[in-house]
Amino acid sequence: AAPIELREVRKQYPDGTVAVDKLSLSVNAGELVVLIGPSGCGKSTVLRMINRLIEPTSGQILIDGDDVTHSDAVQLRRRIGYVIQNVGLFPHQTIHTNVGTVPRLLGWPKQRTRDRADELLDLVGLDPARYGKRYPHELSGGQRQRVGFARALAADPVVLLMDEPFSAVDPIARSGLQREFLRLQAEVRKTVVLVTHDLDEAVRMGDRIVVLSQGAHPQQFGTPAQLLGE
Ligand code: ADP
Ligand code: ADP
Repeated sequence: AAPIELREVRKQYPDGTVAVDKLSLSVNAGELVVLIGPSGCGKSTVLRMINRLIEPTSGQILIDGDDVTHSDAVQLRRRIGYVIQNVGLFPHQTIHTNVGTVPRLLGWPKQRTRDRADELLDLVGLDPARYGKRYPHELSGGQRQRVGFARALAADPVVLLMDEPFSAVDPIARSGLQREFLRLQAEVRKTVVLVTHDLDEAVRMGDRIVVLSQGAHPQQFGTPAQLLGE
């Protein structure tokens, strides 16, 4: 089964707004799919439904073939890593503790959680001995975003969801961070859904691009080259 499958997923908020209408999408193992479209077209809503932060009004969501449309969000944490724009690190916890968030939530033994946090910090290019004991405000924006990647990957999820993960850093740091993420992805080969409103980023990062447009049925699908008409 595909790691992520959406079947005719619809989300109507209580005030009547239809944020997503009949979206069907299947993401293959190790594939990086970009969701792009203007602000308000429903990109974040799609990610939040996959992550079970909100429930779809209708349709089905399958992770690795299991219907998780109405399953418990905490159970999904093991299988889904989530990265958001402003990282959402806990300000009063060290970098090391932040990276261990999901393993702790899942009840991993302390030593295993510690070792895993060290390993992940290394993987994203932050020396654990140097940065592990710092607090989030003692890092640059780009470094914090790397910590966000490390935290999302800590429990070795099947799926990685990223909502505008590069938007909060300045344009120069951004391209370095995008390159860094592609290097990381080549190593860990997660099934990724990346949300952005930046076409350059979509073309640069995506194996496949899905263009959403507000309220209407989506949706064009294609490789970057197909969508650019090359
Ligand atoms: P995007 O991520 O593409 O900017 P969103 O998924 O955040 O889009 O929003 C899609 C649409 O749903 C927008 O029209 C937005 O105003 C609306 N929306 C988002 N969250 C809510 C909510 N909690 N209640 C009502 N409408 C919402
Ligand atoms: P809150 O919504 O109160 O901030 P949550 O328990 O929802 O707290 O999330 C705690 C942190 O974990 C948040 O910063 C969020 O970005 C992150 N998070 C949410 N979902 C996931 C997930 N599936 N995997 C990893 N981290 C997640």
